[in-house]
Amino acid sequence: MTRSITALWAACVTLAAIAGAEELRLKTRTIDPAKESSPGLELRAAGMNPRSLTGSRWHWLIQVNSSDLSAWEQRGATILASVPVNGYIISAPDTMNWQDLDYKYRAPIQATDKISPQVLSAELIVGDEIASSLAIVRFHKDVAPWEADGILDAEGVRGIRNASLETEDRLIEVAPAQMHALAAWDEVEYVFPAPQGMKDGEPFLVCGGVLSGAYEVAMLAASYGEGWDGPGRGRASISYSFGNLGTRTDVIQTKAEFRRALEQWARAAAVTFTETTARSAARNIDLMFATGDHGDPFPFTSGTSVLAHSFYPAPPNPEPIAGDIHVNDAWSWSIGGQWDVFSVVLHELGHSLGIGHTDTPGSVMYPYYQKATELKQPDIDSIRQIYAAPDTTAPLALSITIANPGEGARVTTPTVNVSGSITGGGSGMRVEYTNASASASGACLINSVFTTYSCAAVPVTNGANTIRVEAKLDAVTASAERTISREAPGDVLIAVTSPVTATTTTTASQIQATGTASHPGGIASVTWVTSKGKSGSATGLETWQATVPLETGVNAITFTVTSRTGIQSSRTISIERTAATAPAPPPDPTGDKTPPRMTIQQPIGNFIITTASKLTFRGTATDNIGVQQVTWTNSAGMQSGTAQANQSAGATNWSFDVSIAVGFNAIQVRAWDTSGNSTLYTTTVRRY
Ligand SMILES: [Zn+2]
Ligand SMILES: [Zn+2]
Repeated sequence: MTRSITALWAACVTLAAIAGAEELRLKTRTIDPAKESSPGLELRAAGMNPRSLTGSRWHWLIQVNSSDLSAWEQRGATILASVPVNGYIISAPDTMNWQDLDYKYRAPIQATDKISPQVLSAELIVGDEIASSLAIVRFHKDVAPWEADGILDAEGVRGIRNASLETEDRLIEVAPAQMHALAAWDEVEYVFPAPQGMKDGEPFLVCGGVLSGAYEVAMLAASYGEGWDGPGRGRASISYSFGNLGTRTDVIQTKAEFRRALEQWARAAAVTFTETTARSAARNIDLMFATGDHGDPFPFTSGTSVLAHSFYPAPPNPEPIAGDIHVNDAWSWSIGGQWDVFSVVLHELGHSLGIGHTDTPGSVMYPYYQKATELKQPDIDSIRQIYAAPDTTAPLALSITIANPGEGARVTTPTVNVSGSITGGGSGMRVEYTNASASASGACLINSVFTTYSCAAVPVTNGANTIRVEAKLDAVTASAERTISREAPGDVLIAVTSPVTATTTTTASQIQATGTASHPGGIASVTWVTSKGKSGSATGLETWQATVPLETGVNAITFTVTSRTGIQSSRTISIERTAATAPAPPPDPTGDKTPPRMTIQQPIGNFIITTASKLTFRGTATDNIGVQQVTWTNSAGMQSGTAQANQSAGATNWSFDVSIAVGFNAIQVRAWDTSGNSTLYTTTVRRY
C-alpha cells in the first residue's frame, strides 16, 4: 500500500510539515538533534539494542527534512506516528538500506522515553516498597496482538480485560520494575497510568486514534505545534461555526454544549472564540457531525470505533480545515448520556487548539475518557504550555435590556418577537424568556458576539402580559421585564344608550347622546363627528356623554371609541332635525304681552342628580288672560310632550313624566298663554 502525502494534520493523526531545524518534543524530554547526532547508532554499536520478540523489524524515531516520506516507504519502512517537530516513529525491516535517505536524526526510542513521567512520579511515591500500579502498555501499531501478548507472557505479566481498550493497548497492574522491563522491548511505544475504573470494567470514550492510512501523533509526544497564537505563550482570537449537527440531539442543545466546552478552554487559556457562519473562514473551528466519507481523507468507515477527530491548528495544518472537529454521527450521541456531546467536543477542542493527550487518568485530554464536567489541572497545564493564561481583567457586569416591544405596547397578534441587547455576555451564556401570563417560556437566540438576542414568537395572552428575559452566564443572572397588552379588535365595544333608537326626529338644535365603551386595555377617548361637518369629544370614557349640535335635515353622527391600544370601534346614529313643532300662538286681539308665571313644585333645583330612570315634573302656571298649555322637552332621547293640566283655584296645575337617560338630560318646560307669550324653565338632570 502506498500512502499519499497530503498536508492534513488531524488530532491523533498527522502528516509531515516542512520546517527548519526543530527539537523533537517528547513527554520525557526535548531532543535537540543538532546536539545529539544519531545517538541511536552509537547505542546500537555499543550493543544496547532493545529486545525484540522477532528481531525482524525495529522501531526508530527519525527527524526528516522533507515531508515526502515516499522514499522511506519504498525502502520498506512503515510510518507509524508523528512526533513534533518533523519527527516520525517508523518501523523498518532489519535489512533496510538507510543509505542516502534524507534525515537529521535517527535513533531507537530509549526505554526511559517510553515510560510516562506520571508513572515515574507514582514510583517515587511508593518508595522502596514493591507496589503495583495500574498502567496501559501501548504497542506500536504494526505490532500484532499475538506479539503484544507474547511480550507480556515473556515478562510474566497478565493483561486485564476491558472492552474499551484499543487493539494496541494492554491494561496491566505491575510493579515499576516490570514497567521498565516492558519499556525495554522494541515493540512497546509507551507505558502510561491507567484509570482505576478501567480495571473495574467501566466503559470509556476513546479518542479516535486508530484512523487507518494516516499518522497518529505518538502517545510519547508532547503537545503538538505552537497553537493558534504562534510561537511562545500568547493570545489567540479564533472563530467557530456549525455545520450539520447530526441526527441524535437537538441542534440548539448541541450548540449550547459546544459553547459550554469553548467556555472551558477560554477560561483555561488566553483564547477568545467568536461565532461565525463563515464555515470556511481561516482561523475557524467548524463543528460537524458526519458519517462515512465526509470530505477529508479520514472517512468514518462503518464499524470503526472512532468517535470523532479534529484537526490541529494552522500551522501545521492548512486552512480551512485547521481546527475543525468532525463527530461520527453513527454513535448514539446525547446530552449527558454515555456518548455525551459535551465530553467529546471538550476533548476534541483540546486538539483543535493544538494540544495532544495527557498521561493523567481522569483528565479530559487523557486518551480514554468518561463523562466530563470541566477541564482538570493537567488539561490546563497542557494548554498553558502553548498559550498565555486567560486575561484577568474583570468582565463587564452582565446586564440585559429589552428594546422591542416597548413598555406598555399593545398588540393584537398571538405572539410577539422580543429582542434587545446584552452587555457583559460571553461564551456559554443562555438567554431565556418567560411569560407567566401565557404560561410560556423558551430559549432565545444570541448573536455571535453575545451582544444582542432575539426571542421569536413569544406567546401572549389577551390582556396584560409581563414578559421577562433572563441572561444566564455562569452563576450570574441578569433580567429585564416588559409589560404589554394583547387586544383583539373585536374586544372594543361601544354602545349608544341614548337616543335609544338609531333614527330619531327632533326639532331641537342639539342632542345629548350617552353611551358606554369597554376594552380590556382601557379606553383612551370617545369622539364624534357629524355628516354636517361638526366634531368633538365626549366627556367620560367607559360611560360617556356628548352634546352634539344638529343642523336642519339628517345628521349622521358617528361616535368612535379608541382603546389605549389604538384600536377603534364606531357606532352611527341618524337624527333628523325638523322645524319646531311648538304650537303656533293664536292671534292676539288684545295686545297682551304678559307671559304666564310658572312655579316648579318638583323636582326642585336647576341641577338634579339622580339614579332614577323616570322623573315626574309638577308645577303650576298662571296668566293674566289664560294659560293655554305647558310643553316640555328633554334633550336626551329627543323626548318632548305636553303636560297634563287642570284648572284649580285660578291656577293651572300641570305635570308630566319624563324618561331620564344615563348622563345629562337638559329639561325645558315652557308655559304658554293664549296670546302666544311663554315662560321657559330649564333644569339639568344628571343620571348615574
Ligand atoms: Zn484525543
Ligand atoms: Zn473528518
